Amino acid sequence: MKLWLKRTMALVMATAMVLSGTAYVSQWKNVDFADANNSTWNGKTPKYIFLFIGDGMTYPQFTAASDYLGAVRTESNRVVSDNLNFMDFPVSGSATTFDSSSFCPDSASTATSISTGYKTLSGVINMDESKRVSYETIAEKLKEQLGYKIGVVSSVPINHATPAAFYAHQPSRNNYYEIGVELAKSEFDYFGGGDFLLATGKDMKQPSLYSLAENNGYSIADSKEEILSLSAASDKVIAISPVTVEGALPYEVDRKTGELSLADFTKKGIDVLYNNTGFFMMVEGGKIDWACHANDAMAAIKDTIAFDNAVAEAVKFYNKYPNDTLIIVTGDHETGGMSIGFAGTQYSTYLPQLSEQTLSYEAYDEVIEGYRANPVNFETALLDIEKYFGLVTKEKSAKTTYKNMVLTDYEITQLKAAFELSMIPASNRKLSEADKLMYGSYEPLSMAVTHLLNNKSGIGWTSYSHTGIPAAVFARGLGSQIFSGSYDNTDIYVKLKALTKVE
Ligand SMILES: [Zn+2]
Repeated sequence: MKLWLKRTMALVMATAMVLSGTAYVSQWKNVDFADANNSTWNGKTPKYIFLFIGDGMTYPQFTAASDYLGAVRTESNRVVSDNLNFMDFPVSGSATTFDSSSFCPDSASTATSISTGYKTLSGVINMDESKRVSYETIAEKLKEQLGYKIGVVSSVPINHATPAAFYAHQPSRNNYYEIGVELAKSEFDYFGGGDFLLATGKDMKQPSLYSLAENNGYSIADSKEEILSLSAASDKVIAISPVTVEGALPYEVDRKTGELSLADFTKKGIDVLYNNTGFFMMVEGGKIDWACHANDAMAAIKDTIAFDNAVAEAVKFYNKYPNDTLIIVTGDHETGGMSIGFAGTQYSTYLPQLSEQTLSYEAYDEVIEGYRANPVNFETALLDIEKYFGLVTKEKSAKTTYKNMVLTDYEITQLKAAFELSMIPASNRKLSEADKLMYGSYEPLSMAVTHLLNNKSGIGWTSYSHTGIPAAVFARGLGSQIFSGSYDNTDIYVKLKALTKVE
């Protein structure tokens, strides 16, 4: 290379480093992130801001849900996909999701990025990588600087990582009690959905989070009647679903008619938060992630649709106040390595078959628990597999309308091996390397059944954890245009900050 060319290039690189230094180093250290090229806003500040986060939900999850809806509606081989509400938003973008520890990040670090604009380690909530410096969140800033009312809603426990990232600052997402203490002190106006985890601490001897919250002026609404009677006249309130499973709302596929849904908690949030100054509400669809960890496509799809029904409540509000409202819908990371398409079905999918599944893997785990308590034979288990998942043996092939739902000899062998493993109490099971790949840390028979049903329907999985593909971002309303393009998840915060002009 000629000397002058080398010198010119060195000068260009040095200039670029200085420029990038002024632009990024203070906030993002030396990592080369996607450019926040579209984060200026000179227009009016949106008064009403909705931020929806589908946990573990990105392109495969919402595409599988829309394809499923189209396939079920038409029940034909025509290819019809029924877009979810948010997929029709006029603005879309995509956001990279890696954190300071991994290309496959967790919900604590990714929600920290969205909420504060900083990358951090997996597991850390709104603190830096040394776990000493706390970051103020967009929700805290909107409350303090603009006087907005703040709502945090989730289908999983309200002190779980994603909701926590809007009000708490903790070195570990597992500090559920400490996170709950921060919730009680947050002065935020509305919490809705799941219950507290570890409400009296790990040692179960701490003052209860319910009484701490009540001492700080919160009322706790935990019956359907109390929750449905909340209104703009209600003071600070924590609305806890009267029906919970491990502190979370039931999976949508298991939810009974009349039980409150994520959409109900979102609608109620709007009633409580509405005022003339403004509000910010974060709504998390948390069980999409849990279902995808367990590779349960039907549970994931139904929870994605439930999440979209919550978005629909915000869209109704937007239609009333289109000039003041902004709705953002995104995910934090992908979970499960879900794919539409599977090696065993080549280019074909058979998504309507999924609707034969009438309970979640979690509810089926309980059925299996019953098998262990009162031992049954494999043939009895096959009857339940037919009842709950629609998979039938060759002898019963007349019982299904889907010829692909007939179990092959190979598949029966797989189910039998999983059944035998599931009949051994978990603590006595010795899992081979192959078992671990097939079942992860879940109930072997539940995993074998959902994997079979998913694969026979054309859905594949590659992980029981999170993966590294980008999150989609959809936006509608005032200021939505700055969410178009390709950027990093920290830019979602940068854009919110630009729109609201908080410091
Ligand atoms: Zn997860």
